[in-house]
Amino acid sequence: MEEVKKKDIRALTREQLRDFFESQGDKAFRGNQVYEWLWQKSAHSFDVMTNISKETRDMLEANFVINHIKVDQMQRSSDGTIKNAVRLHDDLVVESVLIPTKSRTTACVSSQVGCSLDCKFCATARLKRMRNLNPDEIYDQVVAIDNESRLYFNRPLSNIVFMGMGEPLMNYNNVLKAIDKITSPEGLGMSPKRITVSTSGVPKLIKRMADEEVKFKLAVSLHSAIDQTRTSIMPFNAKFTLADLREALEYWYQKTKSRITYEYVVWEGINDTKKDIDALVDFCRFAPSKVNLIEYNPIDDGMFQQASNKAVDTYVETLERNGIVVTLRRSRGKDIDAACGQLANKS
Ligand code: SF4
Repeated sequence: MEEVKKKDIRALTREQLRDFFESQGDKAFRGNQVYEWLWQKSAHSFDVMTNISKETRDMLEANFVINHIKVDQMQRSSDGTIKNAVRLHDDLVVESVLIPTKSRTTACVSSQVGCSLDCKFCATARLKRMRNLNPDEIYDQVVAIDNESRLYFNRPLSNIVFMGMGEPLMNYNNVLKAIDKITSPEGLGMSPKRITVSTSGVPKLIKRMADEEVKFKLAVSLHSAIDQTRTSIMPFNAKFTLADLREALEYWYQKTKSRITYEYVVWEGINDTKKDIDALVDFCRFAPSKVNLIEYNPIDDGMFQQASNKAVDTYVETLERNGIVVTLRRSRGKDIDAACGQLANKS
């Protein structure tokens, strides 16, 4: 007999679940109960839904699956950083990272298996983009890190950054749906102000987010404010130029009044001259901005090398002199390949 393909129950909205129960001659509120189990309580099986009769649970089991992620391997760095290798229902693997500091725990989550883009300095770019993650797969990564934060650091997760594998805006709908669940009281109830979506800069989609009046924060992996340089390290910049990016970001700021953060690595021989710094200062002028200077983690072939301390110091001084907020981000989790740009399913 041909096996009936069961549906992923977490692809259903609360309304659809209520309708499903009604169509089975049951009460619609049963849909609310199941929805709560699936999202607020992150149930991995129908069996744990103890306020629902055995008969109903069997009926759910016959019709649906819960495609929960599985943390296959957890590695802990000497600095406390944790990297999870997360296995998806179709056996593909992504990575997510827990970054602890004195006062906060940040989850760095993935949005795609592999990546649609091809930044030259990034290990993920070497993996072919296999597929987008579903909203529940993104949500589950956050729940797994929240649990680890409570277990190892005695506190809940405080912040989320979409800086893991993938370009979040190339998986726009699912990322926004996942954020909806993370921030909704029916999910984790986290404030959107604690969530940052980090993009390489897809102008059209930045404008769309502004139009949708999203409440989370925006970060842009800039790395150069000179088109020629940026295109050489982030080839898609040939299509989405800095002028288009800037126009989209101006639009974003007008609509949201939310400061923009630029992620920026200074590489030796690539963007470590005065001309590069001046271009960055100029790029930052149109809206309140913050620059995160991130320490680079070499990914093996040595084409990209972190610039000297002197070059980085000159960046800091010049940005500060021009009234631009700048922070220096030391890399975390280097010993387990969990640092920025290093996620490549190596473990
Ligand atoms: S840096 Fe981000 S956008 Fe660029 S290839 Fe890596 S994962 Fe994709």
